[in-house]
Amino acid sequence: MAVLIALVVVACGAAIFFKIRQRAKARAAAREKYGKPCPSCGKYVHPAAAICKHCYARLPTPKA
Ligand SMILES: [Zn+2]
Repeated sequence: MAVLIALVVVACGAAIFFKIRQRAKARAAAREKYGKPCPSCGKYVHPAAAICKHCYARLPTPKA
């Protein structure tokens, strides 16, 4: 019985770990696809944008 509980705990931990990793991967993919996240509203804007199109906050100028 204890072995079964340990197995379930390990499986749950692995599932949560996998979910977190998948979310981080999706976030990285979104950043690559949509650009950088706005420091004001957190939405993704074009990497070269000077002003956020969502909240019109000024963005740090990209260093190319
Ligand atoms: Zn914004």
